[in-house]
Amino acid sequence: MFEYAPAPESRSVVDIKPSYGLFVDGKFVDPVDGGSFKSINPASEEVLAEIAEAGSEDVDRAVRAARQAYEKVWGPMPGRDRAKYLFRIARLIQERSRELAVLESLDNGKPIKESRDVDLPLVAAHFFYYAGWADKLEHAGFGGNPRPLGVAAQVIPWNFPLLMLAWKIAPALAAGNTVVLKPAETTPLTALLFAEICQQADLPAGVVNIVTGAGDTGRALVEHPGVDKVAFTGSTEVGRAIARSVAGTRKKLTLELGGKAANIVFDDAPIDQAVEGIVNGIFFNQGHVCCAGSRLLVQESVADRVLESLKRRMAQLRVGDPLDKNTDIGAINSAEQLARIRELSDAGSAEGAERWSPPCELPDRGFWFAPTIFTGVTQAHRIAREEIFGPVLSVLTFRTPAEAVEKANNTPYGLSAGIWTDKGSRILWVADRLRAGVVWANTFNKFDPTSPFGGYKESGYGREGGRHGLEAYLNV
Ligand code: NAD
Repeated sequence: MFEYAPAPESRSVVDIKPSYGLFVDGKFVDPVDGGSFKSINPASEEVLAEIAEAGSEDVDRAVRAARQAYEKVWGPMPGRDRAKYLFRIARLIQERSRELAVLESLDNGKPIKESRDVDLPLVAAHFFYYAGWADKLEHAGFGGNPRPLGVAAQVIPWNFPLLMLAWKIAPALAAGNTVVLKPAETTPLTALLFAEICQQADLPAGVVNIVTGAGDTGRALVEHPGVDKVAFTGSTEVGRAIARSVAGTRKKLTLELGGKAANIVFDDAPIDQAVEGIVNGIFFNQGHVCCAGSRLLVQESVADRVLESLKRRMAQLRVGDPLDKNTDIGAINSAEQLARIRELSDAGSAEGAERWSPPCELPDRGFWFAPTIFTGVTQAHRIAREEIFGPVLSVLTFRTPAEAVEKANNTPYGLSAGIWTDKGSRILWVADRLRAGVVWANTFNKFDPTSPFGGYKESGYGREGGRHGLEAYLNV
């Protein structure tokens, strides 16, 4: 067993204030009606801070500030000058990455090794990447003289709070839009620290506005008539409601919604590598990942070998303190999410699938769920059809490549998929037939700012990342 245990990352690197206002027109302000809610640490249930709750008047102020900044400052600004601000923000994110990573782990529950080594480097990379586009839009092959849309309303979920912010804000600003962003109610803190970084970068007032609150705040924002573009990441259910409310308005819309990805392991796959990919695919970020490999499709002839090796590997996973550098699986983000994971897992057992978790001591306080797999799953089971958004893997088997493709596509979602095989021709044959926006081969959960990300079917429409991600913020 691994004995060496370095000290947990210290929370003293981050200065959390007792309360936070809304970030509107370059300043932190109190909400008009003085409402607030608490953000808690899901690993301990301690209150981290009191957060302002924006009502519709506050949202209106933020949208008007964004409009003013768009008309007077940011829209007319030459691309090379917008780029300078974005590069400055990217560098400040790097300089303050330790603070941001600790705050992300405290507010979200994710392991520090992930926020430090995955989330933060990707967040900075997105700002660097889109900074580079800001003065090249005329030469990007969009044709003519691409123009910004105006004011973007952006609503994001809690699973990658800062990374989802980067996916939304970096391309919008590079293309010349101004934004009002609403973080998720359980993870507002890094967005508010990002607001401080905007101040530190001397970003003109009103270019970025952050309004905190729950679904009502989000609704007021996307329904505001002063908004030109709505970008939403979250559940398919809320995505549908937003699509209905935006229909018939002038607003442009992009949606990044849920998933139920198949991770397909063929009998000629490098098994050890595939098992690492299965573990990464479903247990990374507690499985709170829209593109998580939540359905393992394994070829019958190697199923026993793969499962045996997977169980051995799962027994080594450490669940616990998100700030401990050895932790592999942190806390579940909220009591509500934990209840949903439990409900679906119980349904798995009730419908006849076989449940297995390694022996695992969970802390008394906070929200925790042991890594879990279900075998003997059929396509009719709820755990094979519904997004669990937790560390729970449903295992199904197949005999032929055609059957693997059919099962992989048998879902209303289509965000991502993985293929494990030694045969290049099989990768191409299968990938070509999968109805998924992203297909990984012999790897999983790899992200890069240069590459577009987004779904087929009920996983949403539009793409984020790469050159395609800019198109969503331009009139071409
Ligand atoms: P959610 O839809 O409940 O909430 C997402 C955001 O929308 C939150 O900020 C919430 O406050 C806000 N919101 C809620 N109701 C609203 C309304 N009526 N109008 C406007 N805003 C509203 O989802 P969640 O539980 O926070 O996130 C989990 C979901 O997000 C999962 O389904 C996951 O697959 C999806 N997700 C998708 C991607 C992707 O890129 N496709 C990435 C991350 C998460």
